[in-house]
Amino acid sequence: MIVKVAIDLALDRLFDYEVPEALQKKLAVGQLLSVPFGHREARGFAMDIVERTAQSSAKLKPVSAIVDETPFFSPSILTLVKRIAEYTAAPIESVLRAALPAAVLKRNARAKEQLFVDPVPDAAADGLTARQKWLCENILRLGGGWLAQLCDELKTTPASLRALAAKSIVAIAPRARRRDPLAGRRVLPTKPLALNPAQSAALAAIKAAKGALLLHGVTGSGKTEVYLQAIAFELEKGRGAIVMVPEIALTPQTVQRFASRFGDRVAVLHSALSDGERYDEWHRIRRGEARVVVGPRSAVFAPVANLGLIVVDEEHEPSYKQEDNPRYHARDAAVLRGAIEGVAVVLGSATPSLETWMNVRRGKYACATMTGRAGAGSLPSVRLVNMQEEPGRTIFSGALLDAIHLRLERGEQTMLFLNRRGWSRSVTCEACGHVVTCPDCNLAYTYHRADDCLRCHVCGGWRPTPANCPACGAAALSFRGIGTQRVEASLARCFPQATVLRMDADSTSRRRSHDDILSAFRRGEAQILVGTQMIAKGLDFPNVTLVGVLNADSSLNMPDFRAAERTYQLIAQVAGRAGRAELPGEVVVQSFDPSAPAIVAAARGDYEGFAARELKDREEGFFPPFCHLAVVALKSQDLKLVSTWSDMYAKSFAAFAAKNPSLGLVVSEAVPSALEKADGWYRWQVVLRAPGARAIISAWRTIIARRPPPKILRMAIDMDAHSLA
Ligand code: ADP
Ligand code: ZN
Repeated sequence: MIVKVAIDLALDRLFDYEVPEALQKKLAVGQLLSVPFGHREARGFAMDIVERTAQSSAKLKPVSAIVDETPFFSPSILTLVKRIAEYTAAPIESVLRAALPAAVLKRNARAKEQLFVDPVPDAAADGLTARQKWLCENILRLGGGWLAQLCDELKTTPASLRALAAKSIVAIAPRARRRDPLAGRRVLPTKPLALNPAQSAALAAIKAAKGALLLHGVTGSGKTEVYLQAIAFELEKGRGAIVMVPEIALTPQTVQRFASRFGDRVAVLHSALSDGERYDEWHRIRRGEARVVVGPRSAVFAPVANLGLIVVDEEHEPSYKQEDNPRYHARDAAVLRGAIEGVAVVLGSATPSLETWMNVRRGKYACATMTGRAGAGSLPSVRLVNMQEEPGRTIFSGALLDAIHLRLERGEQTMLFLNRRGWSRSVTCEACGHVVTCPDCNLAYTYHRADDCLRCHVCGGWRPTPANCPACGAAALSFRGIGTQRVEASLARCFPQATVLRMDADSTSRRRSHDDILSAFRRGEAQILVGTQMIAKGLDFPNVTLVGVLNADSSLNMPDFRAAERTYQLIAQVAGRAGRAELPGEVVVQSFDPSAPAIVAAARGDYEGFAARELKDREEGFFPPFCHLAVVALKSQDLKLVSTWSDMYAKSFAAFAAKNPSLGLVVSEAVPSALEKADGWYRWQVVLRAPGARAIISAWRTIIARRPPPKILRMAIDMDAHSLA
């Protein structure tokens, strides 16, 4: 018997070991093993158990020991890990690492024991002082408790409690104390709501679903209530569930909705947990104590046994795509895990990704639709403002200023939304709204400051930066953008009486400040909240009746084939914030190009119209979901080196494509990335497209094997890349 072991050394290969007689009965895949490696002992996971074959070397070293007999990975999770490694061309160890939080293996993260005080049933209470009687009654009432906590709550000392223990009235013993990230949040259980007809139909569709199902429901249509009831159904049947949410939507509010319905059966996994909390939550899941797991990307690997359902909330969210190794897409991984385990996967969104939408149209995914709001409130009215007609090109249009004034007078709240990524600048004419785009790809050019030219990030074409607008000839080309800080400052000038809060990556670096800002806004401590896409989703503020989108074009002009999709999503999601309670909502969308199809469709809430038109463009341009697209990223500290090698690889890929025409591989030229230089590294890229992902990976493996990159060049492939930058 031979076991194939993955050792955490990023060598992207498995090592064979002999399984000694004594271990053969106990050894199973997914276990952590101790094996000799070079001159030391190493740890690794058992990935496969195979029979000894004629080819296998006689001199294999034996496994030293099984570290833990309970496997860390179930066979289906191992299958998932292997498939992701294959699909993304990532080293298997990197996928294992993503699948298993490091804290889980840390010995010092194990729970420490603390003293617990238990009341002794029917203990004789004679000979006690009045104070001791009072203590006993209260310990009984509380059902016992941690020694330290009881001393605190009952204003007593450990010595007094030990005196009671000496009389056998209470028992004091050490007990492992769970570190609970939801401590204090497990409030009274909520009851299931009576579903409206659309929700009932969706729930029935989920119960009947075999594979993936899109739950397409507008913001506030009550998707979460449907998830909760679908999960309750699984729990009744003895099965567990995984709920995936985007990291930034993992607010206490979201988690609380699950925790207050299912109490202790909920475990939460996210990046802000301490090692101890993560250790305890993970082991609670593995032991089957927690049956519902709420978490971001990596929750897709949670060791839920007897899984019944996976929910991916806000399935269109780009943050489901991991940007470093392994570059997997957690939504797609969820669909894969669902297929491996034979369970339904619900993909929820008000603005589905076009990949998911296409899978519905192709009949691969089922679909349930909810078009109205479930609770109080109605969909807001949306108003488009043409910024070209605003005098002086200010940040705020007259209409928006009036609307904010009105909210301040009425004591209602306003959210202002602005999406701005600093380094990615498109070139827009402020006179006619024209965006300078690549004629071959119809994508916005990216301005490259280093050599003052405009480049297309798909075909590699470039042009010198024009002095005047190529469409109308005006000398009004703009490279500048408005950032959130500038908006905050001008609000202070326009509305000195108002308190303004700002939320973006700069303002939320402290661990809790994200929550702090939102809670302060919820409590009404500020009248206006300015932010980036962080404020765009999942939040439910009853007093917000106005939402302003300051520069709807900024995301439209990103050098990315998904720019229109992102713009649609952002406007629709942001607009969903207004009027969630009884008060009617209003949305003001400012744009230099208010006739852009994505903006018009988003203002009307016409998702299907948008999707139909956008899919046509994608098909013509040969973009996903009509192909797979991967970015081969190269970086080096030497500019000459990275450009030369990038060119060489682009040519090698092109030659491979020419030799294997059946693969349908389309190879771009090598171009510098939009972020050409970061931290002293020069970054270049080659874009590969093909109808099948396999074709791309086989090209990658072949070329890399033939021409391995030199050590001073870093090279990676990003399958189904989410950003062309
Ligand atoms: P979504 O997840 O689709 O954005 P939510 O689940 O947050 O929507 O629901 C929006 C609001 O509607 C919430 O306040 C929720 O409590 C309420 N709601 C949901 N379903 C019902 C229902 N069947 N009856 C009454 N109110 C509901
Ligand atoms: Zn181009």
